[in-house]
Amino acid sequence: MSVFNTVAMACPACGTDVSFELVHSVNAVRRPDLRTAILDRSFQRKACPTCATTFRVEPTFTYLDTKRKQFLAVWPSTEVANWKEVEARSQASYDSAFGPGTDGAEFAIGQQARCVFGWLGLNEKLIALDHGIDDVELEMAKLATLQAMGEMKLGKAKEFRLVGATDEELIVGWLLTRSEEIDDEYSVPRQILKDIAAAPDTWAPLRADVSGGMFVDYRRVLLGDAKKK
Ligand SMILES: [Zn+2]
Repeated sequence: MSVFNTVAMACPACGTDVSFELVHSVNAVRRPDLRTAILDRSFQRKACPTCATTFRVEPTFTYLDTKRKQFLAVWPSTEVANWKEVEARSQASYDSAFGPGTDGAEFAIGQQARCVFGWLGLNEKLIALDHGIDDVELEMAKLATLQAMGEMKLGKAKEFRLVGATDEELIVGWLLTRSEEIDDEYSVPRQILKDIAAAPDTWAPLRADVSGGMFVDYRRVLLGDAKKK
């Protein structure tokens, strides 16, 4: 079941109240149209009736796709600063639905369970799965790419995300968190994923860094470092 409720949000440009049907959970099998709308970035986006500015409400919902075996706890992009706490909360709610002894336990077998922050993080997980890309190896490849570019940093109000892939290449780029526009785009040989899979010992520390919990994301490393300073 996909569950909605209606709330009024103020237009960021003129302050007019605009009513949105906000979702609490998306069932991608029963509502494939919602998955499509997430991918084309129209989901929870509306034009203000007064000034025509289009805007989007930050996501807070669970996304379940039993066919593709994917569960995502989706949180607003601003919550990433509290990722440890939010990750723990996501894990607890996942366990209550899919943990051992629950009705959902049989669905949990082979199911990817993640927490993501913001629309960009959500889209990336859907795109990676569509292209048969393991998300842990993807995040490792992104970090290696950032390192090679000398850009091992969080970036101000932007995120380094997979936006597409071909048989030969991963298309990654810096996207602006708020507008979701691409700032810079790069092609990375898909071979890097094979290199990672072929040398597990070499890559083990980085694998541990990006995949310690449901928040499988390159920023796990960078935010962790930022906190130590
Ligand atoms: Zn407006």
